[in-house]
Amino acid sequence: LHWERQIRSSAAVRREDGIAVLVTGAAGFVGTHVSLALRRRGDGVVGLDNFNAYYDPSLKKARKALLASHGVFVVEGDVNDARLLAKLFDTVPFTHVMHLAAQAGVRYAIENPASYVHSNVAGLVTLLEACKSADPQPSVVWASSSSVYGLNDKVPFSELDGTDRPASLYAATKKAGEEITHCYNHIYGLSITGLRFFTVYGPWGRPDMAYFSFTRNILQGKPITVFRGRDGTDLARDFTYIDDVVKGCIAALDTAEASTGSGGRKRSPAQYRIYNLGNTSPVTVPALVGILERHLKVKAKKNVVEMPGNGDVPFTHANISLARAELGYKPTTNLETGLKKFVKWYLSYYGYSRRVGSKS
Ligand code: NAD
Repeated sequence: LHWERQIRSSAAVRREDGIAVLVTGAAGFVGTHVSLALRRRGDGVVGLDNFNAYYDPSLKKARKALLASHGVFVVEGDVNDARLLAKLFDTVPFTHVMHLAAQAGVRYAIENPASYVHSNVAGLVTLLEACKSADPQPSVVWASSSSVYGLNDKVPFSELDGTDRPASLYAATKKAGEEITHCYNHIYGLSITGLRFFTVYGPWGRPDMAYFSFTRNILQGKPITVFRGRDGTDLARDFTYIDDVVKGCIAALDTAEASTGSGGRKRSPAQYRIYNLGNTSPVTVPALVGILERHLKVKAKKNVVEMPGNGDVPFTHANISLARAELGYKPTTNLETGLKKFVKWYLSYYGYSRRVGSKS
């Protein structure tokens, strides 16, 4: 197989003493950054991604090329493909799996609910089955989401709060993921760490997210749609900069205890943890637009409309004390600084000249 040869000859996995990580969703936004960070410190990394067309496939190809230039090879395949996973685990004795592949986005579930079940539920089970049978059994760190807090209105959101009021199918599949991973921890001794990301943004980000599509529309002189809550309040998000999230992911990999199962059976209790990875300082959507206008030096044409009730929640706000205490997680980038870095990347990636607003 083409990828088997690639992986075997890849410098990125020829590490004898360190950790070897399978990063699923490696051509995605977070996956690219995590893979690069692991590679930079010399860990073994192999990526897996199905390059689906949920958003601009050329952006995923560009991320793949960036990873390749750092020696990280991304196998093209689906996490729901059991045979492919078995081959991957046969080829490399992964010590860790960083599972980031998922159907992301809350609104797309109205259009394509099956894709959420395929990747976030069935795909997760297929992956955990492969992990359970692998020798050695890897420790699993995976992306859950702040969306599991759903309509919870007790802020800031703590891991001790209830998560039984999801507002979208996306949230429901992430919540299901938390319960599914718990079973695999309990029965098979897999070490599991779930990370609830809060609206991650930054360079190489996702075009379906508001900060990204607002930037595109503002630069093209097109209107942007800003949702307002039913009671007239502004929506707010605990925007978290990608570098902070990457540090949290790596700390979770480093503090993950080894799985305790073997040959599909459990020997002793293995770790099961869930952490919020947020920023603890929510910003309203109009304030986000204000920052973008300043960085882009262009005024936005805003259409303010009532939130249509297709999956969004009014606000998110993370309590991060648990991640701070157990992972040493400490976000350091505020939205102003983080968006500056995003805008700089956006202008250069899409070929805008330094005079903002004009294509070079
Ligand atoms: P992304 O869409 O950029 O990355 C996900 C990647 O997974 C994509 O490249 C996609 O092609 C791939 N993928 C999807 N289904 C797959 C499948 N069945 N098999 C193989 N590959 C598949 O999203 P992201 O923002 O990088 O998110 C990474 C993870 O973090 C996801 O699990 C997402 O749900 C979660 N998350 C993200 C945010 C955020 O704000 N970015 C917030 C909360 C949770």
